Amino acid sequence: MTTPSAAKFPDRESRAWHAMSVHEVIAALDAHHNGLSAEEAARRLRIHGPNRLPEMPPRHPVIRFLLQFHSVLIYVLLAAAVVTAAIGHVVDSAVILAVVVINAIVGFVQEGRAEQAMGAIRAMLAPKALVLRDGHRMTVDAADLVPGDVVVLEAGDRVPADLRLLHAKSVEVDEAPLTGESLPVAKSTAEVPPETLLADRTDMAYFGTLLTRGTASGLVVATGEATEIGRIGHLVGSVGRITTPLLRQMNRFAHWLTFTILAVSAAIFAFGVLVRGYDVGELFLAVVGLAVAAIPEGLPAILTITMAIGVERMAHRNAIVRHLPAVETLGSVTVICSDKTGTLTRNEMTVETVAVAGTVFDVEGSGYLPEGDIRDRDGAAGAEARRARLRELVRGACLCSDAQLRQAGGGWRVEGDPMEGALVVLAHKAGIEPARDCAPLPRIDTLPFETTRRMMATLHRDDSGGVIYAKGAPEVLLGLCDRQADPAGESDLDIAWWHDRLEEMAAEGQRVLAVAFRRTAPDKAEITDADLEAGLTMLGLLGIADPPREEAIEAVRRCRAAGIRVKMITGDHGATARAIAVRFGMAADRVVTGRDFETLDLPALARMAREVDVFARTAPEHKLRLVEALQSCGEVVAMTGDGVNDAPALKRADVGVAMGIKGSEAAREAAQIVLADDNFASIAHAVEEGRTVYQNLKKAIVFILPTNGGQALIVIGAILLGLALPVTPLQILWVNMVTTVTLALAFAFEPAEPGTMARPPRRPDAPILSPFLIWRIVLVSLLMTAAAAGLFAMAADEDGSLDRARTLAVNAIVACEALYLFNTRQLVAPSLTWRTFTGSVPAVVAVALVALLQIAFTYLPPLQTVFATVPLDIADWLWIGAAAAAMFLIVEAEKAVARRRRA
Ligand code: ATP
Repeated sequence: MTTPSAAKFPDRESRAWHAMSVHEVIAALDAHHNGLSAEEAARRLRIHGPNRLPEMPPRHPVIRFLLQFHSVLIYVLLAAAVVTAAIGHVVDSAVILAVVVINAIVGFVQEGRAEQAMGAIRAMLAPKALVLRDGHRMTVDAADLVPGDVVVLEAGDRVPADLRLLHAKSVEVDEAPLTGESLPVAKSTAEVPPETLLADRTDMAYFGTLLTRGTASGLVVATGEATEIGRIGHLVGSVGRITTPLLRQMNRFAHWLTFTILAVSAAIFAFGVLVRGYDVGELFLAVVGLAVAAIPEGLPAILTITMAIGVERMAHRNAIVRHLPAVETLGSVTVICSDKTGTLTRNEMTVETVAVAGTVFDVEGSGYLPEGDIRDRDGAAGAEARRARLRELVRGACLCSDAQLRQAGGGWRVEGDPMEGALVVLAHKAGIEPARDCAPLPRIDTLPFETTRRMMATLHRDDSGGVIYAKGAPEVLLGLCDRQADPAGESDLDIAWWHDRLEEMAAEGQRVLAVAFRRTAPDKAEITDADLEAGLTMLGLLGIADPPREEAIEAVRRCRAAGIRVKMITGDHGATARAIAVRFGMAADRVVTGRDFETLDLPALARMAREVDVFARTAPEHKLRLVEALQSCGEVVAMTGDGVNDAPALKRADVGVAMGIKGSEAAREAAQIVLADDNFASIAHAVEEGRTVYQNLKKAIVFILPTNGGQALIVIGAILLGLALPVTPLQILWVNMVTTVTLALAFAFEPAEPGTMARPPRRPDAPILSPFLIWRIVLVSLLMTAAAAGLFAMAADEDGSLDRARTLAVNAIVACEALYLFNTRQLVAPSLTWRTFTGSVPAVVAVALVALLQIAFTYLPPLQTVFATVPLDIADWLWIGAAAAAMFLIVEAEKAVARRRRA
């Protein structure tokens, strides 16, 4: 049997790419080491189609609609409709059915909204790939890859298509998604025999697997469905459903409530029939009324919509929520541990200071514009010899870099690491043309930068032999050097002089990079760590400025006001970290390095971690320990990260935050939130939105439950006292399913309350409803009961018309709801303000809509027939308004008392 993909790509089904040499693969795919041209790539894309796996077919809308009927509540209502019809109340039965359908429509729309939010998020997280096109590195959508493309990978990248490796340095790949093997597999470029099984093809990297170590480049041999993972029929999961611990808890609560209410209804039914001897049919209708009155039918849908809208709002503010529970956790974050480079600072690097033995240079210019003078602080004597050393240093730094500088849209852009880009810019300022001046020293091998090693090195060859250039953290490189290049040639390393320069640059907040070299044998083909153990010659130091983000300074201040500590965790030098921390107003008098706390046990580390704000020269494993230490003393920790090694710390943190721009795929997948702009300010926004969503969920619950409570009390009272029901079951359904849902929807759009970021974080174990809010729900239930029952009794006394009394009662309940909406916009702060009534467009629209609905309910003949309503006169409406206003004022008075007690 042929698979569909085999039929689509017959020629490539049989190709054993792993058994071909690199040359053969390149020839077979009509490709080139420098990549395809843009036109050729576009042509191939038209032939092969996008590099995407087929998606799980979304559920058919009809199925989705039908699934809305699968819930306990609906079964209860359907049973009620059947029995109601059986005892001859056909209209009631029809209305119950209509309500069931409305409920399904609301659920259907809400689900669509939620899926839309999640779909948008997935689109924002679409994978990218670094390719060579026309010899230039460029980032493209992974979906645009075609066979023949050359893809460049580094640790943390997900392999974006099936690749035959062209180059692999210390590469390990996690192939679990494809083979199930959980240990990473080492890769190289040597071909393997044709019969080799998939899991042992060490010269291939397959779509969907993860590069956990090293750097590699590979030729795309298959894309999309033609890849190995595509062939096994792997489908991309469809969008997840919106659910979080709180939503699940509320769903369970709704279920529990449903069963309790059914039990209570059954008991009341039994009591009425057996003790009081009521008519079975009448009582059944009353009990159905009780059940529908007490069950908060709209609550789950409203909560889900509120969550979905919160997620959308966060995405607008550049925080993409991958994992929904984060929305809730964000509101209770007490500590944010942030990277420095790119998150607190702009990651727009400029070399400002250069030191070669005995001389310091100041570099002018800003950003990536490759223009600016380099001034010698020492004046004229011997200037030329010092400049020659400077050029040697700068050329060494460029040789040991991968970034490229490109002119784009009137400005200059760096492809690759911004810090390396700054080195290329410096080269231009020093009169070096990297493409021309580095060409005589082709690169033979690379030891890539790793945070644990804190340096990188490259091996080059020229006419006089081999040479290794290394660049990295000065403490590391100074420890490996015993000589230094100086204007006269070479001399012994003057370590004290270099340390002074390092401290000077770091105290300015500059990130300091050292560059060194050593000569090697001409036939050397590979660098290993052993080549970098000693015997290097220091070329010089580079001081690189990376200005703080202004908006991040403000965001750190806001976090502090919100009771959240912000800690900087950086791989940079302590003095650099301190200088930057001071700009952010952090406690920078004590800076601790990763090495300092390696030996501390957990309690000691926890104590230190709470006190100290700045951690320098940290490695990813230090981040993990810090998270654990902070959590051990009850902190709720958000931690940022970008590298593959940050993944454990991101997973362990209460909220893992990955960088969307410079973060690796591995970090993004481990994180709960991805920042689209890598900016600290977006974390602060996400916290604010998280607090707002939680607050809005709380408001929606506090708003919805009293309506149910009030109506249930009215019905129970009437049954127990043997009186006519002040509201019929149909009228109750109208209130719960139409007016309450419409009004409660306003809370999904409620903006943050003014003081949201001026309060301490919520305790994570605090229940969503405090005793105070439960009291509020009880109070308002009683007030609504009083309003409705009072008007009902008054009207019944006046003229004895049951329908008129009921019409009054229902309108009183809805009027109370409408005003209570404004009470609830602030749970404790006063609502008797102009802003409360006009500040939220959704609230105003919802109330206007409900007013129209009530007019229709009261005056429109068809609705009058169904709901047994009658027209009301002006005096009636005044009574209704007065009752609702009284309830509003009583709730405001209660808030005032609560505020006074809190103060
Ligand atoms: P932060 O945590 O603030 O974001 P970082 O994670 O960028 O800092 P690292 O990337 O771990 O810090 O860098 C630590 C040190 O390693 C730097 O101070 C620098 O000296 C050196 N370094 C960084 N990038 C490179 C590179 N591409 N080549 C050589 N050395 C580097």
